[in-house]
Amino acid sequence: MLVIQQKKLNQLDKLSIELKNFIRNYYDKPEGNISLHEPIFIGNEKKYLSECIDSTFVSSVGKYVTLFEQKISEYTNTKNSIAVVNGTSALHICLKLCGVKSGDEVITQSLTFVATANAISYLNAKPIFIDVDIDTLGLSPISLNEFLNEFGEKRDNGTYNKKTGKKIAACLPMHTFGFICKIDEIIKICNEWGIPVIEDSAEALGSKYNDKSAGTFGKMSAISFNGNKIITSGGGGIILTNSNILAKKAKHITTTSKLPHKWEFDHDSVGYNYRMPNLNASLVYAQIEQIDNFILKKRELHDQYQLLFDKYGIELIKPPKGNKWNYWLNSIRLSNRKERNLFLEKSHKHLILNRPIWKLLFRLNMYSSCQRDSQKNSIYLEDRVVNIISSAKY
Ligand SMILES: *Cc1c(COP(=O)(O)O)cnc(C)c1O
Repeated sequence: MLVIQQKKLNQLDKLSIELKNFIRNYYDKPEGNISLHEPIFIGNEKKYLSECIDSTFVSSVGKYVTLFEQKISEYTNTKNSIAVVNGTSALHICLKLCGVKSGDEVITQSLTFVATANAISYLNAKPIFIDVDIDTLGLSPISLNEFLNEFGEKRDNGTYNKKTGKKIAACLPMHTFGFICKIDEIIKICNEWGIPVIEDSAEALGSKYNDKSAGTFGKMSAISFNGNKIITSGGGGIILTNSNILAKKAKHITTTSKLPHKWEFDHDSVGYNYRMPNLNASLVYAQIEQIDNFILKKRELHDQYQLLFDKYGIELIKPPKGNKWNYWLNSIRLSNRKERNLFLEKSHKHLILNRPIWKLLFRLNMYSSCQRDSQKNSIYLEDRVVNIISSAKY
């Protein structure tokens, strides 16, 4: 037993050194911190930004917002796109427009970035945490089905939770690292229960499942353009929906619910100042022009990692069949938490800032009282998954 452990530790040591050398060489960066995912600006970014500044339309009105929305609709094959200030606000509006109200509950996963649950909380609703699948890292339709069969109660106006008496107003699965979860099965189950599905596609721009883009399966979805995502607007997000009615509402309430008039300030509800500024849109418009190339580069990196990790018998995680992946973040699966921590410690000593997968949300103080199932797979993954440096190379 001890001998095996010692052998493993020596191997981890060797791996972290080989990985450091590979990464420093790959990015041509012999010293200093190398962070997990850095943006690249090698296209028309400066050109469009300065055009935008010269036009003086740097704020909530301007051509780049519309151009970008059209481009995203085209790229994802969605009828409507509404650009907003970040992915979290996009999620907030999707949930609100799908009918989530104060006191309701929303099914989601605890293996996600905190924003998924925060957007639910902004509406005074509460998350219910359902386990994920090991292969997709996303919400498990089997666990979802089990939960609904045990706790769901159909009433005239929707499904209620037998345990809490609250309405289950929506289901919010997330496409982890750009892997598309078993979204078809999730939607089928939710349709049976009359629960609208919203996709947290924050990380999944460019990913497809059976040739259909992430974010186009559910009633609405949200994508993020934060600095660490596959393309960036600095800060930003977008709402996708094939419903013209929901799109119109989304545009309206993210623009302070202002009624169109030449000079009057008339607003018909409490709106939000959530529209993406033109300045941010000009940056991300230059980025979307390069996305195919980014994906290509990221795929090359993934293939090189594959060779490296194969040598050590360590699993480089890939999405299951049917996925066309955007290669946003690479991740590996180690044997246990101890090995994970050791690997991270060694990486950080070399200033290679690999990171663990998120702490499960039910462990956070504000979400500790939320209802959850066994979380067996989520805990298994939390103990083992590490994200490794994944920026495209320039
Ligand atoms: C990045 C991210 C968000 C939030 O996007 P912001 O633009 O940072 O607000 C939401 N959910 C997931 C899963 C994310 O990765």
